[in-house]
Amino acid sequence: MPYFICPNCQRRSFDEDGREGLSHQALGCHDCGFGFVFQLLEDYFPGAGAAFTVCDRDARVLAAGHGVFEMTGRQEDGMIGRDVREALALRFADGADPIGTVLEWGVRQMEVPATLHHAAGIEKPVVCDLFPAYDDDGGLLVAVTPA
Ligand SMILES: [Zn+2]
Repeated sequence: MPYFICPNCQRRSFDEDGREGLSHQALGCHDCGFGFVFQLLEDYFPGAGAAFTVCDRDARVLAAGHGVFEMTGRQEDGMIGRDVREALALRFADGADPIGTVLEWGVRQMEVPATLHHAAGIEKPVVCDLFPAYDDDGGLLVAVTPA
């Protein structure tokens, strides 16, 4: 049974086939009305203060959820279409590129340590959980949690 999580409010849900009723519309979030929910292979419990960003197959930001502004000091408007690493100002240790790994191999990467540069100039240690998208469009979900 697929699991889903809302990129905006982080509400978790599950569904038989990922479609809603007879209309076969893509699932949206029942709580906050966000336009789509992200499918996960396994259930996921985001940590306190987590912020979600959804990206396309080229790691460009499609949507930034609730909490991203607080986490980064950046508005969603200025992030859409940019590379998520640049948009969130994320730097991984030792030049690692777990986002590239997720996109290339379609495997999730959990609890990856990184540094996030807040728009106010503060460096924050964070932990990233990265999930590949399972639909035909590809892409990934980036969950950033304060370390
Ligand atoms: Zn929601």
